[in-house]
Amino acid sequence: MGTDSRMHPLRPGDRGPAVADVRAALRALELLPAANGAGPGDPGDLEQAEYDRATELAVRHFQQVRGLTVDGLVGEETYRALSEARWSLGDRLLHHDPERPTRGDDVTSLQERLHELGYDAGPVDGVFGADTERGLRAFQRDYGLTSDGTCGPATFRALRQLGRKVTGGRPQLLRQSAVFVESGPHLIGRRIVVDPGHGGPDPGHTVGETTEADLVLDLASRIEGRLAAAGATVYLTRGRSQNPTGEERTAFANDARADLFLSLHVDGHASQHARGVASFYYGTGSGASSTVGEQFANLLRREVVARTGLVDLGSHPKTWQMLRASRMPAVRLDCGYLSHPVDRLLLLDARLRSTVASAVLAAVQRLFLPAEADPPTGTFVLPARV
Ligand SMILES: [Zn+2]
Repeated sequence: MGTDSRMHPLRPGDRGPAVADVRAALRALELLPAANGAGPGDPGDLEQAEYDRATELAVRHFQQVRGLTVDGLVGEETYRALSEARWSLGDRLLHHDPERPTRGDDVTSLQERLHELGYDAGPVDGVFGADTERGLRAFQRDYGLTSDGTCGPATFRALRQLGRKVTGGRPQLLRQSAVFVESGPHLIGRRIVVDPGHGGPDPGHTVGETTEADLVLDLASRIEGRLAAAGATVYLTRGRSQNPTGEERTAFANDARADLFLSLHVDGHASQHARGVASFYYGTGSGASSTVGEQFANLLRREVVARTGLVDLGSHPKTWQMLRASRMPAVRLDCGYLSHPVDRLLLLDARLRSTVASAVLAAVQRLFLPAEADPPTGTFVLPARV
């Protein structure tokens, strides 16, 4: 479409190249039948293209669907929306240009996809801004792509493959993807149960409007997105309105034949000074303990502490029913104190929660990284701060 946005509105009865342009856009959106033959309004005779009744109806339909004023005319706003609607993800390179921000449905798709995968890409508004770039870079870092903030062929491919996976698609598509083979550790075939504590009538710790139940559910969703994106099959033990018992949560993980069970809480304490991150695994503190659980508890806490600056409260063996009754390595992560002013501010920040989700992904990747591929400690370069 043309670039002159200060146009005089096109209306029924108008003819010419601008009308042909609009009709082409409507055809691309399948709002007008595909051109066949060289009738009026079809390419081949641009001057003769007519804003006929069918065009007007298609424009009205388009305006209605897009939430625009439905007047059947193509003014500036409708023209811009038509221009944006003709882009779908993969049609062109996308990057952040502060001078002339890229707009389009492809940008909307990218933003939606990043959100689905647990990345904070700012508002889903179809405008490629600084937030979109930040979310995209974080995604690229996590999945071993060049973190250049440009959505190019390799990133498109990754997003497409992941999209299939996240929407319950076919793992073999991921296996065939060279991108993933090259991108290092991935989690295909791993089944992971993520357990947001509390829920339903039980809000957990509460400060003002903020409840532990909501926070850990949000966190669990972000973790789910990232693990699923890396190829794992992820199950959450509850939705917003449910509060399964501890036995039910463990039974759920056992029935799912999970490889890993991660329970999420945030803490609260009468003392305002209590703060930080702790993890718990099954063990008596003397002898019998789950070594993989302990390893995962340590990896998890280390990654979270390194990326968030939350205080390190260590990993601890516990004989809690939930840890004992699960048939797979099980870890509970207590991520910060809602009762501590600094921890609370951090927890209320969606970016911090995304960072914790990245930390969990890194810990799970490290846990499952084949021994021969695990470089000596200290040389394994993890994304710094996401
Ligand atoms: Zn709790």
